[in-house]
Amino acid sequence: MTDDATTPEEAAHACQPVTLWGNPVLRKRCTPVTVFDAEVQRLVDQLFETMYAIPTGVGLAANQIGRTERVFVVDCRDGLVAAVVNPTVTVLDADLQEGGEGCLSLPGMGLPTTRAMRCRVTGQDAKGNEIAYEGEGLRARAFQHETDHLNGRLYIDLHPTKVRKRLEDEMRAEEWFGLPHLDPLSEEYRRAQGEDEDEPVE
Ligand SMILES: [Zn+2]
Repeated sequence: MTDDATTPEEAAHACQPVTLWGNPVLRKRCTPVTVFDAEVQRLVDQLFETMYAIPTGVGLAANQIGRTERVFVVDCRDGLVAAVVNPTVTVLDADLQEGGEGCLSLPGMGLPTTRAMRCRVTGQDAKGNEIAYEGEGLRARAFQHETDHLNGRLYIDLHPTKVRKRLEDEMRAEEWFGLPHLDPLSEEYRRAQGEDEDEPVE
């Protein structure tokens, strides 16, 4: 398919470049959505399209495609496909989960990361209707990971400085380091993702 075959409608819905660690937008505290117009729906569509472009993608936040609205999408392949606008996470009990965590904006990286085992996310859908979902395990991890993104936080922030610095040094040596974003369908992004292609990433 050539560029001139793309209609504006298709372009608006197309998969977007994924922002990479080092891009300041990932450190931005995103802005609440107050107007629920077609633009919010378009953003949600772009988030889904981009997330599904990466076979292991289970969640994606707006600043991972360079936007600053408080919106994320999740699909942990557990039956819930959701877009959450203006999310708030409430931890439901004191149980914790340990497990590998990865991020689409830190391709090829991962760390065993402690999270709350169960949580609820409340917010709105793309039309402004109040919504609430509960999650356990991977789904709860995704709710926490994506909401953190919208507060400018990354999973590496949950680790001791020494661990985080080591991972940051690794990233500085990566081929993709210094690029603001990458097309998730590109050979370069796939190469950056590396071998662990079965691990869910957010
Ligand atoms: Zn992430």
